[in-house]
This record gives sequence, C-alpha cells and structure tokens, in this order.
Amino acid sequence: MAAERFDVAVIGAGAAGMMCAATAGQRGRRVVLIDHYPKVGEKIRISGGGRCNFTNIHATHRDFLSRNPDFCRSALARYTPRDFIALVESHGIAWHEKTLGQLFCDESAKQIIEMMVAECAKGGVEWRQPCEVRGVRREAGGVSRFVLDTSAGSIEAASLVIATGGLTVPKIGATPFGYRIAEQFGLAIVPPKPALVPLSFDPELLARYGDLSGVSLDAEASCAGGRFREALLFTHRGLSGPSILQVSSYWQQAGAAEPIRIDLLPGVDVRAWFAQERRARSTPAALLAQRLPKRFAQQWSEAHGLAKPMAELSDRTLEEAARALADWRVQPSGTLGYNKAEVTLGGVDTRGLSSKTMQALEVPGLFFVGEVVDVTGHLGGFNFQWAWASGRAAGEAA
Ligand SMILES: Cc1cc2nc3c(=O)[nH]c(=O)nc-3n(C[C@H](O)[C@H](O)[C@H](O)COP(=O)(O)OP(=O)(O)OC[C@H]3O[C@@H](n4cnc5c(N)ncnc54)[C@H](O)[C@@H]3O)c2cc1C
Repeated sequence: MAAERFDVAVIGAGAAGMMCAATAGQRGRRVVLIDHYPKVGEKIRISGGGRCNFTNIHATHRDFLSRNPDFCRSALARYTPRDFIALVESHGIAWHEKTLGQLFCDESAKQIIEMMVAECAKGGVEWRQPCEVRGVRREAGGVSRFVLDTSAGSIEAASLVIATGGLTVPKIGATPFGYRIAEQFGLAIVPPKPALVPLSFDPELLARYGDLSGVSLDAEASCAGGRFREALLFTHRGLSGPSILQVSSYWQQAGAAEPIRIDLLPGVDVRAWFAQERRARSTPAALLAQRLPKRFAQQWSEAHGLAKPMAELSDRTLEEAARALADWRVQPSGTLGYNKAEVTLGGVDTRGLSSKTMQALEVPGLFFVGEVVDVTGHLGGFNFQWAWASGRAAGEAA
C-alpha cells in the first residue's frame, strides 16, 4: 500500500502535540496527528483536579528547571499566558484564578480538550488514534522526509514532531518513545526522573512521623536553590503537599543527595518566642499547638524529648528545638515514582535543539515539544504553559 503523504506528522496528541498540529494546520500545512492511546488528552482531563490549571499568569523562564535554564525563554516570550487566555476566552470558556496566578476552568478540564480538538479541526488536522508507531526512518535524497511505519499504514512527512510527553502516569499512555527517537537520531538525553512528586520516609522516620498522616501545615521547604512556602502534608509514606512537590524537583535535580530543609514556622522567630515563654508552666506541645496543628505539636515534642514544662527544660534543649523547628532537615528515602509524579524532570537535551523552533539542530525537520524536552515547570500551570508555548513554536516552523 502506498504511503500517505503529509507536510507534518505529529506523534503524541497531548497538550503540546495538539497545539503544534493546530498551529501548523492553520498555517495551511497538511498535518497528521498520531496517538497510540484510545482517548484524547487524558492528562489534560485529569489535570488540576479535573479543572485543568491551564496556565500561570506569572510564568517566566525562572519557573522552569533545565540543564539550560535559558532555553525556554524564547518560546515562552512568544506565546504567553495572555495569548492562551485569549484563546480560552475566544471559545467562551469561563476561568478563575485560584491562588498564586494559577488559572483553572470554572467547569471542566474537558473544555480545554474540546477547545484544542476544535483548533485542530480548524487547521484541517487528520487524526490517527489509536495508532501505534512501530518505527521511524529518515530518507535523505533530494527533499528529505520521514517515513513512519504505523498500525494505520505507512505515513510520510517532511517534518516530524515528537510530542509524546514524559513518563508520568504510564496507565494513561506515557511511554519512553520520545527518548528512543531522540537517541535514534543522535540527540542526548538528560536522565529522566519523577518530579513534582511526593517523597518517602525510611522506616525510622516513618515510625516517628507516620502517625501524622493527614496533618497539613504552612511551611517553607527548600533544597538546592529552590524555596517554596506553601502547604506541607504528612502522609502514611512520608511528605507531600505543594511545598514538598515543588522542592522535590530540585531535590531530584541535585541527585537526591542533599537533605530537604523545612521551616515549620515560617515568619516566626521561634527563639524569641521560646525566650518569652521561658518560665511558662505549660509544655512546648501546648505552646506549639497555638500555631501548629495539635497532633503535630504533640508528636514533634515527643520526638524531640520536650515532655516537661518549658520552665524545666534546659537552655540547650530549647535552643535545639527552636533550631529544628526553623530548619528541620529531612533526608527522604526516595519518591513515590512515576505513578504519583506530576511531571518528568530531564528529557531531550536542549543543547541539541533550537530554542526558537524546537527543531533538532543536526536533523532538519525533526522537532521535540512539551514535556519530552528537558524543561520542567514548577507546580501551578507552568507545565501546560510550556506545552502550549513549545507546541506553538514548532507549529510555526514545521
Ligand atoms: C495528575 C496530573 C495533574 C497535572 N496537572 C497539571 C496542571 O493542572 N497544570 C499543569 O500545568 N500541568 C499539570 N500536569 C502536567 C501536565 O499534564 C504535563 O506537563 C503536560 O500534559 C505535558 O504535555 P505534553 O503534550 O508534552 O505530554 P502529554 O500530555 O503527556 O501527551 C503525550 C501524548 O503522547 C502520547 N504517546 C505517548 N507515547 C506514545 C507513543 N509511543 N506513540 C504514540 N503516542 C504516544 C500519549 O498517549 C499522550 O497523549 C499534571 C500532570 C499529572 C500527571
């Protein structure tokens, strides 16, 4: 059977792939969008608790981790959160800001999927889904082209865009396909790791703090240059909550070797507070319960040998307790892995890509967009903004 011919083949119909296909299609390119998973935009559907935190109004290149932190600047500057909001509004989708510039649909994440499908239709994009890509080869010659061996037959295209995402949540379609294609064409990979991910405790820490599962408090977590003041949640496996998810990416980037430092009473001068209460008959647990959840105050005090009234504790013990509250150093035993991670750190090394077009510098016509690239956003709408912006950049050039 003769191969079907297209100008652009996009593999991966997630956020980045749909944006890229729609953009290229609306430029008049003949585009095919291929995905092996039967449902469209599953990650979008489950995102933001079903309401899709589709962008962050404050997004800048500083909200992303990468071996080359400047790489994402160009695409983000050319397709901004305002541009995406304008698209959302042009489809009549109502949205709201939840916190810290995070924008969500008022109703449902499905509206974002429907919007992107409609944008693809506007560009005349053809879908092949579910469709497996068994192999890709590049035929040089007069005009080079990519030949895809797929379960829907042979497909040829002048440009090939890889938008297959990272490794998170494999049960809804994640595969290492993008990394394999990158390697096949000689591009380097920054080793992928789960990020924005809950952290686990070793048995000793679990024995001490496992009972606190469900307790949440306002904390400032920091590690390897990342610092976040948001909620921290104790779980039956270790720690989670936005401040921990955020800092997990930095912990992973630094090789999981440094302890995470947690200020459990941010904005409070604990030493001064303890000094003021130095002669109190109440216990530190009772005192701490004024500012922290009671269960936490009790458990923490027990774990730190603070069972007596304040007046009976030594200066050294109180000094040590104040330090530990302001600078609790935790060495996690690991993460809860790709099933629980929101994003993949690492990916296609940006040194092999053009920051303007996402095209491989040494392989004309081959593009990588979205999460498969070594650009990882903070929690809060940044990862979608990268998917939209990088998809747009490639869609304008492919
Ligand atoms: C639970 C959860 C909640 C999230 N919430 C948010 C949020 O609210 N805001 C935010 O900004 N980010 C959020 N994220 C992160 C965000 O979803 C991703 O960063 C984003 O979807 C990446 O887009 P992408 O298009 O690069 O990849 P994906 O959306 O992962 O799309 C990749 C596509 O490629 C397809 N594919 C994979 N392998 C193959 C193959 N071999 N052949 C063919 N097709 C293939 C997949 O089926 C998929 O459709 C969340 C992630 C998770 C897991």
